[in-house]
Amino acid sequence: MKPANESIPPYERLDRRDLHRIPELAQLTADERFAIEVVSAVFPFRVNRYVVDRLIDWSRAPDDPIYRLTFPHADMLAPEDFARVADLVRAGAPPERLEPVVREVQRRSNPHPAGQLALNVPTLEGRRLTGIQHKYRETVLFFPAQGQTCHAYCTYCFRWPQFVGGADLRFASREAETLIRYLEAHPEVTSVLITGGDPLVMKTEVLERYIAPLLEADLPHLASIRIGTKALAYWPYRFLGPDGDALLSLFERVVRAGKSLALMAHFSHPRELEVEPAQRALARVRRSGAVVRCQAPLVRYVNDDPLVWAELWRLEVQLGAIPYYMFVERDTGPRHYFEVPLARAFEIYRAAFQRVSGLARTVRGPSMSSTPGKVCVEGVTEIGGERVFVLKFLQARDPDWVARPFFARYDERAAWLDQLRPAFGEREFFFERGLAALVRGEALGAEKASLPRRRLTVFREVA
Ligand SMILES: *Cc1c(COP(=O)(O)O)cnc(C)c1O
Ligand code: SF4
Repeated sequence: MKPANESIPPYERLDRRDLHRIPELAQLTADERFAIEVVSAVFPFRVNRYVVDRLIDWSRAPDDPIYRLTFPHADMLAPEDFARVADLVRAGAPPERLEPVVREVQRRSNPHPAGQLALNVPTLEGRRLTGIQHKYRETVLFFPAQGQTCHAYCTYCFRWPQFVGGADLRFASREAETLIRYLEAHPEVTSVLITGGDPLVMKTEVLERYIAPLLEADLPHLASIRIGTKALAYWPYRFLGPDGDALLSLFERVVRAGKSLALMAHFSHPRELEVEPAQRALARVRRSGAVVRCQAPLVRYVNDDPLVWAELWRLEVQLGAIPYYMFVERDTGPRHYFEVPLARAFEIYRAAFQRVSGLARTVRGPSMSSTPGKVCVEGVTEIGGERVFVLKFLQARDPDWVARPFFARYDERAAWLDQLRPAFGEREFFFERGLAALVRGEALGAEKASLPRRRLTVFREVA
């Protein structure tokens, strides 16, 4: 690809210690500024100059959606937790006094939702593989060790334990080799999703050390390599300039090898795309032959508005990207602050879906990534006089659960699967016994019923 040949501003990271370097904060009240200091002692906080200068509309802060997406707010902590941490911060408490309180508040925030640590860790030759998760039969997640941070942090992020440390809290791997051996042993896997954090915080040279061996291994069953990233939103210069050129060459190389390179782009709000560098970056990614699919959670104060989603999906389609998933904010971290009840989430999805052309209706949701799988709210209806949610697995630990409609009692306030009860007086959902067996380790959903497949004909070097 033609080099971008343009000047790239330096990446300027802004953490908790750099608040004095954000002059825009002077517009907030002293209480609001102090709250940032308090809450960022508990939840990780990071922005960068691009987010501050180009994405946040400071005339609307603290209610601006991108401000809410990236800056902490007092309401993210329960009042008693806020007061405890605030007292210590105000008194200038040393780390050894602050840490234990902070750890305790963090521990109560369910840092590992959906059985992530115990349930999805695969084994190879009897050894547990820590940088790999295999929950759904066709897709393996890979967490490169150097990609476990981001260009800015979303305040609602469920991956925050990966940022705040404690080695046992991280899933990471240095081993592309192990990944390949695992894939060789698992012909049912068609897709590898490289994720983090944000794997694009890595220099291209480092990313290449993972991707090149995957191509060289020439696995016939591997159809796609995906990269989950928010770099198009938080740091589009990642795709411009010399290292951007190298990245796009790497994408081209994947495509020439006869694999699909899918960038799973996280966009929360249309504003992230209404910026010239973001559009230029997206256009370059598309020219490399990579596919861009877009996803984001529905989050209160950020995008809990059907018009925002309709605009977002329309803009994605207009720029050549594909709307993919709308997620329900998950059961971790400052959930009470960000959560949108399922009934409201579905109404937002439906109202937005009605406003876009068929090209944007590739998007599925609202979907909960819960312990048994990705559960989508398909609708609200009345059956035999009972008001119910119609639900469906888009992905499941046991492939047999996928695409079967099932029903839960309608509940206006329920915000997650574990708050739903089966409809029609039934005692449990159809998957609960099977899930309990999986949890006890009696069956391995991801490997069950893997199909022997015909080798498909794919030519290299045609793209
Ligand atoms: C969402 C998800 C995937 C990918 O699912 P697709 O439907 O193939 O996009 C894989 N693993 C986990 C754990 C996931 O949550
Ligand atoms: S970019 Fe993704 S991983 Fe990083 S903070 Fe946001 S949601 Fe979390």
